[in-house]
Amino acid sequence: MFDEVIARNPGEIEFHQAVREVLESLGPVVAKHPEYADSEVIRRLCEPERQIIFRVPWTDDRARVQLNRGFRVEFNSALGPYKGGLRFHPSVYLGIVKFLGFEQIFKNSLSGLPIGGAKGGSDFDPKGRSEAEVMRFCQSFMTELYRHLGEYTDVPAGDIGVGGREIGYMFGQYKRITNRYESGTFTGKGLSWGGSQVRTEATGYGTAFFVKEMLKASAESFDGKRVVVSGSGNVATYAIEKVHQFGARVVACSDSSGYVVDEAGIDLDLLKEIKIERRGRIDEYADRRASASFISDGSIWDVPCDVALPCATQNELDDENAIRLIKNGCRVVAEGANMPTTPRAIHTLRDAGVRFGPGKAVNAGGVATSALEMQQNASRDSWTFDYTEERLSEIMTSVHHRCLETADEYGAPNDYVVGANIAGFTRVADAMLALGVI
Ligand code: NDP
Repeated sequence: MFDEVIARNPGEIEFHQAVREVLESLGPVVAKHPEYADSEVIRRLCEPERQIIFRVPWTDDRARVQLNRGFRVEFNSALGPYKGGLRFHPSVYLGIVKFLGFEQIFKNSLSGLPIGGAKGGSDFDPKGRSEAEVMRFCQSFMTELYRHLGEYTDVPAGDIGVGGREIGYMFGQYKRITNRYESGTFTGKGLSWGGSQVRTEATGYGTAFFVKEMLKASAESFDGKRVVVSGSGNVATYAIEKVHQFGARVVACSDSSGYVVDEAGIDLDLLKEIKIERRGRIDEYADRRASASFISDGSIWDVPCDVALPCATQNELDDENAIRLIKNGCRVVAEGANMPTTPRAIHTLRDAGVRFGPGKAVNAGGVATSALEMQQNASRDSWTFDYTEERLSEIMTSVHHRCLETADEYGAPNDYVVGANIAGFTRVADAMLALGVI
């Protein structure tokens, strides 16, 4: 089946990697449930239900016409409307969107909520673009995509390069074209126009909640631990915030230009001001803080730590990095980002007894809170911060529980990869069987 996926999707290496990682876990399930093989559920799961690719023309501030490509891969809707973020980054092409959409199916299923899997985005690079350029791009992007969206059809959110600002411009254009104030068509909205408390913080907070459970499972806690977090965007920032609240110290974080080490612990207010509010570069953090230094070559995974949280991008932690982490005494690696650890690095970490939490479980808090946002929109209600955070915490505890319980059931105790893949797969596969060959 994997050979068939490669043949049908040539050159899409990230998609191949994501499929392989899931297929490798499914042997015991198919042995126990031959009905999945008989009905070709796995083969059908590997083929998106719909793939949309479109032209996104827009004019820059000097009135020159610019051209980008837009994507939406609506991968699977057996459990609910398509749900998954939009990524704006120059590296985006069909293979990236498909890997993210494929992962999203299992993540959403694992969350226990009624949402299908999708992902989208564009090769547009927001870096260095003015507000007006970002707005015109978002409006052009939505002028095509709006026809495929809807609260019962497909509900996008943010991802790399897409935050509250971009969601606002896209929702504005959607509302203008459709003449409908359908809050439930987007998540990650601003609080004054239909957004949910905790959605901004959800992926990072959820990551910390999940790791807290991982530590608890081996009678440990965050208290006093040294933590390294890669990235300094949405996920990384709020993972750092919650990890600090749990009593650990984050000593390093990064962006695509390098990383900073701060033995006094990352000053989150300063980091937010530079990276979130001003969209600046991380070296400025070291310029403004005496205890910090900036390193532009080498790897953030060289910094010794007890817990490593890759929260930036795919394949950012390779085998060499894994070996270094193990040598330096790291005991837990949990993926805040999607597929940040290469397959070889995962094998190396697991062989060395490092507890490894895969992204589809660890970072499920973002989409879970998106589902809570949809729930609030449907009932025209809005919950308090504390109540929403409590719901998120409960969801992450139950995702953690589901992973370990399933891993046990299939003879792989403490293996979060096997647990997450199988638990995610069986829920969606059962729904597909019930819905017939469609
Ligand atoms: P942001 O755009 O907010 O931040 C991304 C961060 O990663 C930035 O600090 C960026 O640096 C850094 N980065 C990007 N590419 C590289 C690279 N090649 N090398 C080093 N650093 C890099 O994105 P998010 O925080 O939203 O997303 C981060 C990860 O989390 C992604 O894998 C995403 O798919 C995943 N995720 C996000 C969710 C969400 O709710 N936002 C939900 C679930 C998963 P720079 O500033 O230099 O670009």
